Amino acid sequence: MVVFAMVCFEPRVEATTLSSVETTCPVCGHKFTGVNWISTNSFGGTDRDFLQHAAGSQTVLIVCWTCPKCWYSGYQADFKPARVTPQLVEQILTKKVLKPAKPILGAAKEFQSIPAWVRFDLLAQVLQLRQGAKAEEIAWAWLRAAHCQRFVTVNLYGIPDIENRLDKLMRRASAGNLFRTDYEEAVRSGAALEKLADDGANNLSSSDRAIARLQAAIFYKGRGEDPDVRRIVTALRKGKALEPGMEDALKALEVLSEREKLFIGRSIPFYEEAVRKQEVGPADLIGVRYLIGELYRKVGDNAKALQVLEPLSKETISPNLPRAWITDAILKAKGCPLPSVPLSLNKKK
Ligand SMILES: [Zn+2]
Repeated sequence: MVVFAMVCFEPRVEATTLSSVETTCPVCGHKFTGVNWISTNSFGGTDRDFLQHAAGSQTVLIVCWTCPKCWYSGYQADFKPARVTPQLVEQILTKKVLKPAKPILGAAKEFQSIPAWVRFDLLAQVLQLRQGAKAEEIAWAWLRAAHCQRFVTVNLYGIPDIENRLDKLMRRASAGNLFRTDYEEAVRSGAALEKLADDGANNLSSSDRAIARLQAAIFYKGRGEDPDVRRIVTALRKGKALEPGMEDALKALEVLSEREKLFIGRSIPFYEEAVRKQEVGPADLIGVRYLIGELYRKVGDNAKALQVLEPLSKETISPNLPRAWITDAILKAKGCPLPSVPLSLNKKK
C-alpha cells in the first residue's frame, strides 16, 4: 500500500523485526549502536495526516538516528561517509549549529536514549544545512517529530482505583476496550465516552465523568486529534477540584499536545514551499495540498484549513486519498461534532 511520496523519505519494508548495527558517525567518528528495521506493518491503522501505526514496535521511533556525541542526525543511509561534506562537518563540529530541543546528556552508546522527536527535530536542522535538500523532506522530518508525541503514554496511576473505574466506564459507554487499533475505533470510543460523561440523566459521579473525558482525550491524542485534546483539557481545568493524579495527567496531555502543535507549525511552511516550488509530482500534489489543510486544522487555524480544503472537495482526488478524509476535516474545521465514521472508510479497495 503506497500512501504518497512523504513516506519515500524513509526506507520501506513490511513486519516489525529489528537488528543492531554497529555504526561510526561520519561527522565525528564516534561509535554507537544503530537499529536496522528489517520489516514492519501498518496494522494499527493510519491517522488523518498519514501516520501509519504498526502493531508492535513503531518504526517511526527508531528510523531516525542521532549520533550521541555530535548530534548529526539522519536515516541509516545518511551514516555513510559519502553523505557528509567538509562544510557540513564544520557547521556541526566547529560552529556547533545543531540545537537539541531537549538537553542530551553525556555520550550514550545507544541513540535511542535520545527521544525520537528530538532526533527528528535535529534531522530537520541537518537537512537545512544540506545543499539540495527538498522542502518536503524538511517538512516531513518536523511532521515526524509531531507524530512521535502520539506514542508517549499518559500515566494515570496517581488516580485512585483507575483501572477498575476505567473498565466500568468503557463498558457503560460501549466503547470496547482500551487497546484500540484503528483511527476510527479510537475516535469513536472517545466520542462514546464523552457522550456518557455529558448525559445528565445517568447516575455517574462528577469525578467519573471527569475520568471519562480524560480517557476520551487520551484516545484523541493517540491519533493526533489535538484540537479535541485541548478542548477537553481546558474544560476539565474549569471544572470542580480535580482528583489526585488528574492534574499530572492533564499536564502531560498539554505538554504532548503543545509539542505536536509546535512541530506541525514548523512543517506547514515547508509543505507550502514544496508546492510553490513544484517539488511535488502531480500524482502526490492533491495529497500534499490536503495535508496542508489538515495540518492547519490540527494547529487550530480553521479559517486557513477551510481555505485549503474546501476547493479540494470539488476536485478529482487520488485513489490513495479517501474522500471522507477531506469531508471530515471540513466538518471538524467548521466546528461540527465528530462524524460517526464507518470502519470501512479506512479500508482501501
Ligand atoms: Zn557524531
